[in-house]
Amino acid sequence: MAYDTGNVFAKILRGEMPCHKVFEDESTLAFMDIMPQAEGHTLVVPKAKAEDLFDLTPDALAATIATTQKIARAVKKATEAPGIMIAQLNGADAGQTVFHIHFHIIPRWSGIDLRLHARGMEAPEKLAAMAEKIRAAIA
Ligand code: AMP
Repeated sequence: MAYDTGNVFAKILRGEMPCHKVFEDESTLAFMDIMPQAEGHTLVVPKAKAEDLFDLTPDALAATIATTQKIARAVKKATEAPGIMIAQLNGADAGQTVFHIHFHIIPRWSGIDLRLHARGMEAPEKLAAMAEKIRAAIA
């Protein structure tokens, strides 16, 4: 399937849609998931146009996973979560709903189940406050 430039993350990358940004560099962007599966759920995307893992160059993948590691460290610090789950879905059959590759950073606590995937919008002020905490933890 050809990359669809109308997908929501492409719009965020072009500045046509807002996001709660936590980090940006020349190749990647990290922002809060608006339907978090746990408090602190953050997404990392490459700026390169790529639908999934198989569509991304090794260099862009390296930059994206390096940002994922950096932001996961900050998410862990900001949320004080003992565990951090990294997830990345390829194809609708795997549950992918936005067709611009992204890595999920999801804090985990034993005994606390994940909320359902891509359901239940979080209050914007809660997302903004969490983004602020994560940005502070990067520094
Ligand atoms: P996936 O199903 O792996 O493609 O994940 C897509 C993720 O994007 C889901 O966790 C959604 O909650 C999230 N999402 C959808 N629209 C937005 C948006 N406008 N801003 C931030 N996250 C979003």
